[in-house]
Amino acid sequence: MATLRVAAKPEVAPMKVAQISKPGADFEIVEREIPEPGAGHVRIKVQACGVCHSDVLTKDGIWPGIQYPRVPGHEVAGIIDEVGGGVSAWEKGQRVGVGWHGSQDNTCRECRRGDFRNCRNLKIPGISYDGGYQQYMVAPVEALAAIPDTLNDVEAAPLLCAGITTYNSLRHSGAFPGDLVAVQGVGGLGHLGIQFANKFGYKVAAIGRGSENAALATKLGASVYIDSTATKAAEALQKLGGAQVILATAPSSKAMSELVDGLGPNGKLMVIGATFDPIEVTPIQLISGSRTIQGWSTGTPADSEDTLRFAELAGVRPMIETYPLEKADEAYARMLSGKAQFRVVLTM
Ligand SMILES: [Zn+2]
Ligand SMILES: [Zn+2]
Repeated sequence: MATLRVAAKPEVAPMKVAQISKPGADFEIVEREIPEPGAGHVRIKVQACGVCHSDVLTKDGIWPGIQYPRVPGHEVAGIIDEVGGGVSAWEKGQRVGVGWHGSQDNTCRECRRGDFRNCRNLKIPGISYDGGYQQYMVAPVEALAAIPDTLNDVEAAPLLCAGITTYNSLRHSGAFPGDLVAVQGVGGLGHLGIQFANKFGYKVAAIGRGSENAALATKLGASVYIDSTATKAAEALQKLGGAQVILATAPSSKAMSELVDGLGPNGKLMVIGATFDPIEVTPIQLISGSRTIQGWSTGTPADSEDTLRFAELAGVRPMIETYPLEKADEAYARMLSGKAQFRVVLTM
């Protein structure tokens, strides 16, 4: 009689994730089983994930309808490790990134018009599903952007949110090469905005608080540095002829309000620094000189690929501080402090 052998289930080592168990809770490092990708999804072995200020939406439960526990992270760089059913355009071993655009529904009015960035049912990694603060992440193919070989993971990660946001807003701002473009804020977004603006051929005026970032702003490509604590930035911009575009990156509505008068004729205040406070502007300020104020949010994975390729081509790189996944709480606190130089990135 043959011996009945019960095959033991192969031991699969669990993975580590940094999760938030409820709104306002601290990060918990827990072990989970490595997830399997379903149809239309891939599993990514995460190599690096940027810590973005928008992760506060997950940490503090600000996003309506968010469910817990949730793993934050929408600046993900990694390697495809497994593909689910029906996936033909992506393969195992490919380097990919995932940014804010975590998939669209393809059926809403904006999607039907090809405006996927403004999908009414946009899914966001780290909010709608678990993001990149973990060793393995499952993502739908609509979220994937290919990473060029010469960009390493820790450099690519912040380009997938901070990078794409500055690059994509500037390239849609209407500014032409040679135009005066001001970048308000020399921080996580601003230090990338200055580099992109310089490489696009603009005359770049960096606006910062205090003199300590002047040398750095110049090194990143600004030809003018305006210390907003020492001079009225709007007047300084007018002395230069008025800005065609002011890229407002620092999350201060008051600072943004003070810049409107620095715009030249047909100038545009492009708002990407997120706050909940009102920007104050009078109709007269907008009417005289036909000025506009516009907001901009990130872009699609195709825009991410453009950002990464342009960064590769032009030598634009984020300045980063790295922390291991286990220190997610420390990394997050560092990002929140505003003292990081300039993007905080978790490594797995
Ligand atoms: Zn972000
Ligand atoms: Zn849609």
